[in-house]
Amino acid sequence: PEIVVWKEFDRSRLYTADLESGLHYLLRVELAAHKSLAGAELRTLKDFVTVLAKLFPGRAPVRKLLETLQEWLASLPLDRVPYDAVLDLANNRMRISGIFLINHVKWVGCQGSHPELRGYSCALWELFHMLTVQAGTRPGALDGTGFEGDPQAVLQAIRRYVRTFFGCKECARHFEEMAEESLGSVTTADQAILWLWKKHNLVNDRLAGHPSEDPKFPKVPWPTPDLCPACHEEVQGLHRWNEGQVLLFLKQHYSPDNLVDMFAE
Ligand code: FAD
Repeated sequence: PEIVVWKEFDRSRLYTADLESGLHYLLRVELAAHKSLAGAELRTLKDFVTVLAKLFPGRAPVRKLLETLQEWLASLPLDRVPYDAVLDLANNRMRISGIFLINHVKWVGCQGSHPELRGYSCALWELFHMLTVQAGTRPGALDGTGFEGDPQAVLQAIRRYVRTFFGCKECARHFEEMAEESLGSVTTADQAILWLWKKHNLVNDRLAGHPSEDPKFPKVPWPTPDLCPACHEEVQGLHRWNEGQVLLFLKQHYSPDNLVDMFAE
């Protein structure tokens, strides 16, 4: 097996390599389980790709790939698409210039201390948080998609992606339960950012001590006080989140300015 050397990284930053590896895995591995896409599945993919194409804040060749994929899906006269056609586009066999996405995974901030740990599921969370933050900080980014003016649009696209395509079926079931219970109460883009943060912390809490927990990355309420001291308050001896500060922190942490290209090829 390939020997993977540990890369030192900064937990307060996001790494382009993780997000691009996550997209590679999503497009070339996770979707590949669906040999052909039709009906509600195809609509779910189209909507998720639309959200990615409009909001993914990464490097230009990857954004170009997502835009091309979105335009191609939108222009299809068919209601059934073979997965291989999606793959061809991702692999750029159509020789459209300026499109590129790495074709292997390279985890940095999402490295696990064991190959079975972290990796894709970590990158997927980061991608989802980035999408909600982008929707909340770039008004107008979704104009023309039919999603404009809908504060739940990004979360609903994420929810349907997870339900339909996420390879971890147990995760998908838990996520759907949380969405069904409270996603409907989200009425602003800021609430959407905070909803995903809260649910992610519930998942962290549920998984603490679980075999999927990486001992190097214990499941704790996030952001920890070292990352965001102002996010934490104590009221009569009890811990309380300062949600205004959490929102500011999320907008900074998941902003394109916090993305590091180091280790990305
Ligand atoms: P992750 O939880 O993957 O987080 C990635 C990074 O996001 C962290 O390193 C941190 O920088 C940041 N982060 C952490 N908490 C928050 C937060 N609250 N808000 C914003 N950013 C945060 N695994 C199961 O075993 N059972 C499940 O039911 C399950 N459900 C899942 C549902 C979804 C939608 C997803 C995407 C994953 C799910 N997983 C589940 C996988 C699990 O949540 C972790 O992704 C995995 O255990 C790897 O953990 P990690 O240490 O890399 O941190």
